[in-house]
Amino acid sequence: MIDNSGTTKDISAKVFDDLFRNIDHLPMATAILSNSGQTVEHVNKAFLALFRHDLLHVSYSPDRSMYSYLNHPIVQQTINKAYQSGEAVKKERVQITIARATGDENKYLDLHATPILDHNNSPTSGILLTIIDTTRTVEFQKQFGESERSYRNLMETMAVAVYTCDMEGRVNFHNDAAVTLWGRKPELGVELWCGSHKMYTLDGSWMPHDQCPAAVSLKERRAVKAEALVQRPDGKMRHVLVFPRPEYDIHGNIIGLINAVVDITDRKTLERQKDDFMAIVAHELKTPITSIKGYAQVLAMQLSDLGNEEVNQVQRRMEGQINNLINLIEKMLNAARIESGELQFKKEKFDLTLLMNEVVQDVQLSAKAHRLIFTPTTSVFAVGDKAYTAQVIINLLSNAIKYSPKADQVIISIKQENEHSICSIQDFGFGISSDQKSTIFEKYYRVKTENVNRPPGVGLGLYLSAEIIRQMGGAIWVESEINKGSIFSFSLPALARQ
Ligand code: ADP
Repeated sequence: MIDNSGTTKDISAKVFDDLFRNIDHLPMATAILSNSGQTVEHVNKAFLALFRHDLLHVSYSPDRSMYSYLNHPIVQQTINKAYQSGEAVKKERVQITIARATGDENKYLDLHATPILDHNNSPTSGILLTIIDTTRTVEFQKQFGESERSYRNLMETMAVAVYTCDMEGRVNFHNDAAVTLWGRKPELGVELWCGSHKMYTLDGSWMPHDQCPAAVSLKERRAVKAEALVQRPDGKMRHVLVFPRPEYDIHGNIIGLINAVVDITDRKTLERQKDDFMAIVAHELKTPITSIKGYAQVLAMQLSDLGNEEVNQVQRRMEGQINNLINLIEKMLNAARIESGELQFKKEKFDLTLLMNEVVQDVQLSAKAHRLIFTPTTSVFAVGDKAYTAQVIINLLSNAIKYSPKADQVIISIKQENEHSICSIQDFGFGISSDQKSTIFEKYYRVKTENVNRPPGVGLGLYLSAEIIRQMGGAIWVESEINKGSIFSFSLPALARQ
């Protein structure tokens, strides 16, 4: 039992003097004990404040009942151990309930019991006990643990596969959906980057795990969005969309990676079925519509002899609609061909300015409400397939006209910049919101709008244009502002490579 009589035993008055002076202003609660740690000689202000902080005035002759806290079994054990071993003993997170005027208060304390040495550095029977109040830290850790637990529970119940890696890329957590997707359970803390058996790129080439999107994201410290194929141990393939991104601590240091893996196999299968269906329909329509065009041309020749302007006008409209149908069918067929790799692109140097002039003149013939303005000053060349480049220009010009019904002009420009030639087509129409600027190049994508009078279309023109330009080694992009208009641009290599 701690005796609080305050009597010194075998420690010299000089040692106590020194200690008393030194501990009084220490920020942590400190007590000097003598008599093998059983007698309280002195406590500092922080000790009084810790155990009686409800006292307004902390005095040097405190209510000695507070010493009873030193009788707590763990405090006693710590003191005894330090005395018996002659070594400093540390005990962390000791839970002690302190009685306050306002009610009981639970505290977490770190205890440090250190044997007091005399002037010859020999142990005495005295113990210096320091107590650090870690209640706030412990409570914060508990709250943190709880929020981490609910965060993990949330991840566990998610239908999307989610996993995390440490900063070396070792998988350290995954949810059940990830196991379902991978068809296996990775060894946590051992396997790197991703828990799947094998990964492939969309063209079917094997992707080593250290080159997978998650590895790239962590190594290059950036968020990545990519599509890939995951192979399960039983050989089955899943088509996935992955979103790995690095995780940072509050100081901005990378602490690991989180990756969400969305299984889009079923969506891709449906898309493929839709594509196949479209391709069959387009193919079946192509022969009769080409015949209809032929018959219409024969009729046109016969009718023009009659000299009836009204009939001739109807005939011209019919031919215009037949051409629209043929264009649509061509787009549907090309979309199918581009995906199966059937479209072959020539790689020849051609005069882009000349081509633009020809296409602009052609399109101007049917664009009654818009003036297509193209005033080139020099010849710009490009390398690629001239016919497909013409198709891209037609698509962009038709869109510029179609999506600016109230405007009366479209401005076209061409320039060469370093190793690329760039064409830009500017309209003054509806414009495109920034969140839809990248999605308009996706297949079948049409801008969402409240406008019931929006021009009809199937969302294939920009997709095809982007694929054609990409396959010819160029890029396509749009700058736009809602209700002000858009500038669609594409680049092509300007120089033939050896
Ligand atoms: P379609 O015109 O057949 O719908 P596209 O692939 O050519 O298909 O275009 C996709 C979408 O992008 C269109 O539905 C349209 O909303 C938008 N868009 C294309 N060009 C323009 C433009 N110049 N101005 C505004 N919106 C455009």
